Amino acid sequence: SIPLGFFGGIGAASKNGILVKGSNYLEALNNVKYVVFDKTGTLTKGAFQVTGIYPAPQIAAEQLLEYAAAAEQHSTHPIGESIRAAYGKPLEAGSLQQYNEISGHGIVTVWDGKQILAGNGKLMKLWQIAFSEPKAGGTIVHVAVEGRYAGYLVISDEVKEDAAQAIRSLKQLGIRKTVMLTGDVKAVGEAVAHKLGLDEVRAELLPQHKVEEIEKLDRQKSPKEKIVFVGDGINDTPVLARADIGAAMGGLGSDAAIEAADIVIMTDEPSKIATAIHIAKRTRTIVW
Ligand code: ADP
Ligand code: MG
Repeated sequence: SIPLGFFGGIGAASKNGILVKGSNYLEALNNVKYVVFDKTGTLTKGAFQVTGIYPAPQIAAEQLLEYAAAAEQHSTHPIGESIRAAYGKPLEAGSLQQYNEISGHGIVTVWDGKQILAGNGKLMKLWQIAFSEPKAGGTIVHVAVEGRYAGYLVISDEVKEDAAQAIRSLKQLGIRKTVMLTGDVKAVGEAVAHKLGLDEVRAELLPQHKVEEIEKLDRQKSPKEKIVFVGDGINDTPVLARADIGAAMGGLGSDAAIEAADIVIMTDEPSKIATAIHIAKRTRTIVW
């Protein structure tokens, strides 16, 4: 039988905008030693802005932006949305002949008869485009047209207001390690991790690598110790499903993410995971 106090705990969590899908997860929250976060949309706002346009020689800045916006026409990724916003005009309809979004890489498309690639260095390497990786304080989106490098855009995100506090609260609650997983480049990942005081960061990960990172952590700990993964559901639904406790940021999360998660945070605040652990600990005190 389920101790009555757990229902009180679930109620307290729900009053705080945290939906816990069962008393077993509330109990598991008591034994959390590792809290693993996704970066984009979870610790950062996922509200990207284009802050730099660097065309290759012979290409105008406006032209580069148009190619990128054309490639990102149907993307629901925050990066794609920011590029369309920066372009700020509708694109000629009906000129899109092919469209593929490759998760963790970017977009491959045929638009107006031209093949356009828009994405990270991995995507450029995959298509054997000659390019160099600039040092920039943001996410780089490289663009190639018809097999030729066309330049890059710099896109910047901001950390959420409560993100640093979330990490501090977790430390106070006795969490052994806080980790950030990201598909973004190392320089950006490390800058964010340093700013927030996270213990570890693993960058340049594809969605399946994020699952492997959880499995690695899993092998390092005792079975009783639990791992929470907090993500927004963009490219990380398998990780939500794999972690002992998957927590979806419900404010941004997709239906699939909410379905795969054990906990749904109804706001966009990562600090709610500390609140959930706090409630779980308090509930335990009342139950036993
Ligand atoms: P994160 O792990 O930070 O949430 P994602 O896994 O969603 O990031 O994406 C990883 C990387 O793949 C991004 O940082 C970006 O370089 C590239 N990428 C993904 N989707 C797109 C897109 N629509 N346009 C351009 N680049 C993209
Ligand atoms: Mg993400």
